[in-house]
Amino acid sequence: MLSRRSFLLTGSAAMAGAVALPTSVFGGVGHVLNFTPIRKGVGTFTMRGGTIGYLATPDAVVVVDTQYAEPAATVLSGLRERADRSIDVLINTHHHGDHTNGNAVLSPHTGQFIAHVEAARLKKVAVESRGEPEPASYPTTTYSESLQMRAGTELLDLRHHGPAHTGGDTVVHFVEANVVHMGDLVFNRMPPFIDMPGGASIAGWIQTLETVHDRFDQDTVFIHGHAGPNYGVTGTREDLLAFRDFLSGLLEYVQKGLQAGYDVDGLASVDRLPDFPEHYLDSWKDAIPNAIRAAHLELTR
Ligand SMILES: [Zn+2]
Repeated sequence: MLSRRSFLLTGSAAMAGAVALPTSVFGGVGHVLNFTPIRKGVGTFTMRGGTIGYLATPDAVVVVDTQYAEPAATVLSGLRERADRSIDVLINTHHHGDHTNGNAVLSPHTGQFIAHVEAARLKKVAVESRGEPEPASYPTTTYSESLQMRAGTELLDLRHHGPAHTGGDTVVHFVEANVVHMGDLVFNRMPPFIDMPGGASIAGWIQTLETVHDRFDQDTVFIHGHAGPNYGVTGTREDLLAFRDFLSGLLEYVQKGLQAGYDVDGLASVDRLPDFPEHYLDSWKDAIPNAIRAAHLELTR
């Protein structure tokens, strides 16, 4: 269990080193190549990286997130078989590479390329911190609170509910199909990545999940960015509350530990939270310690 140790690690400098995501979870091989229809032309595509959502009908093609270059090329050719037109609207749910590193493959074939204003800024910062600029990777239409637009017979509703997984998350509602792409606002029964340097807020994330849960109904199909091995990347609004409970449990674990006198290293010396055994992956043992450090930072800054 927990051990008492002296304070060694505090502050944002320590967290900045924790942003590297494990290839085995976010970019590795082994994910099934799959177009999965949901309804009214909306579906999911998974290959490697965060789940892609799509709309493919005779009068509109929409793509939500782009994974990596190779999956993006596969999506492009697969969508051409489903609808004989270029992409009308491309959306990034947030800036993380496992959702946006295929941007440059899809954007030349796209009419409008949309993201939250903070996601667009963070994407540009992330690309340019690695060296050469790559303008084709940057969303060109941004919004700050909400955006509605037609895509053929479908209506798109994009909303930002404040800092949560990052500072620039978008919830995308395909209104006619009643399908919602959550981006990485849901890690379905697996440990989350919490991007404090990218503007995350665990308290805000909890609030966002409750707000989005209340906006929709039992008929709504949700697309999740990632899912544990025994769960799917689509589900119901109950998944939002299940993940809300994990985040609440995470904050409570750290709060109680601080009150009991534990330091951050002592708190982070576990690989899973006692009440949430499903939120653990053998291939990502740092996940819960990193989440605990993020919660500690949020509660002590
Ligand atoms: Zn993410």
